[in-house]
Amino acid sequence: MVFDTHSTIAVVGASLAGLRAAETLRADGYGGRIVLVGAEAHEPYDRPPLSKQLLAGTWGLDRVRLREPEKIDALGLDLRLGHAATALDVDGHTLELDDGATVTFDGAVVATGAHPRTLAGTEGVQGVHTLRTLEDCFALGADVAGAATRLVVVGAGFIGSEVAATCRGLGHHVTVVEALPVPLSRVLGDRLGATCAALHADHGVEVRAGVGVARLETAAVPGGERLTGVALVDGSVIAADVVVVGVGVVPTTDWLAGSGLDVDNGVRADATLHAADDVVVAGDLARWFDERLGAEIRIEHWTNAAEQGVAAARSLLAGRRGAGSFSPVPYFWSDQYDTKIQVIGHPHPDDEVVVVDGSLEERRFVALYGRRAVLTAAVGFSRPRQLMGYRPFLEAQATLDEARARRPD
Ligand SMILES: Cc1cc2nc3c(=O)[nH]c(=O)nc-3n(C[C@H](O)[C@H](O)[C@H](O)COP(=O)(O)OP(=O)(O)OC[C@H]3O[C@@H](n4cnc5c(N)ncnc54)[C@H](O)[C@@H]3O)c2cc1C
Repeated sequence: MVFDTHSTIAVVGASLAGLRAAETLRADGYGGRIVLVGAEAHEPYDRPPLSKQLLAGTWGLDRVRLREPEKIDALGLDLRLGHAATALDVDGHTLELDDGATVTFDGAVVATGAHPRTLAGTEGVQGVHTLRTLEDCFALGADVAGAATRLVVVGAGFIGSEVAATCRGLGHHVTVVEALPVPLSRVLGDRLGATCAALHADHGVEVRAGVGVARLETAAVPGGERLTGVALVDGSVIAADVVVVGVGVVPTTDWLAGSGLDVDNGVRADATLHAADDVVVAGDLARWFDERLGAEIRIEHWTNAAEQGVAAARSLLAGRRGAGSFSPVPYFWSDQYDTKIQVIGHPHPDDEVVVVDGSLEERRFVALYGRRAVLTAAVGFSRPRQLMGYRPFLEAQATLDEARARRPD
């Protein structure tokens, strides 16, 4: 398909990946109609501050905007905020919205992201939270606004750990419950996972690892039920006023049932991000074939969503046959307490890990990961400059020894 000023491109999902896609379509000269559909009523905003500065109260709402309103206006979008897409038909090139509107498109970018997993049976219980949207952040913020609260975070993933750190900083009593024996061991392996757990302990947050949640305990209050504690499978109960459930996210793909797209743990796409001839995907829901790895992957991090939004738009404009492949060296960060954790590449729990700068005990270091002698990832704790020095080695698919031979800064 060649797009021109008479074409319509639908971008579904008005957050990071969707906005970057819309901006790129314009920046690359596309002058036709862009319909940007977003289920949330807000103008596009950034999620990382929701577990950090916005929750801590150090940033106001103005700082979480992804773009100034004038810049969004300048894109000349047909903006449908506060409206969810309810169906897409690849063959018919149509999109249905929840207000009954039908959009006929020539090309589409699907970027509806992901939403949090919940604990079954906890819907509507007061004091129980997940964190994905501004509303979630306000609701959690209101629940921890008073005197010292007993907060339990279920799941020691990155978002749960950030909530624990932020709420500890606000003076609350925080316990993190993690079913895995070592938090984050499936991402970073046992050694660095244990270091992440130690970081919590350094700041007075108790980590209960290797034990799952049996159920949440509640008491009847006017208007429903309120959380009183978290019962663990070992029979113990942690008294709690607030629980944050951080047990991962699921790609938001329900609305694509029957669309003709291949939906299975995300929307499956080829190396060019095409999920169908005129449909590309970007962000947390994209499960694409990464040529560098020779495998399909899905990434739930900010930088990937931003870069993939750009790449997906370019790929759509180039057409499936003319488009290049998307195969980045991924990057993400997590801010916990006063530590910046940064990860470049694809660490695997079974990789060899070598600390090349600083030490785990100081919580300031760079660790390199390697598999079959090849460098796979570099992980830094509060060593941003030193860490970035290893990016070229990851891009060049260097050996672990070549990266180790680099002189530290
Ligand atoms: C609290 C929090 C902290 C984070 N911190 C970090 C961090 O420190 N570092 C990092 O690398 N990453 C972080 N992330 C992850 C990062 O924010 C995500 O990877 C990124 O937001 C993904 O962007 P996206 O556009 O793919 O999806 P999303 O941001 O999920 O946006 C998808 C949008 O699509 C909308 N939508 C859903 N269904 C429909 C529909 N049917 N029709 C129309 N619209 C729809 C949704 O409402 C949403 O607005 C954090 C995420 C959260 C929640």
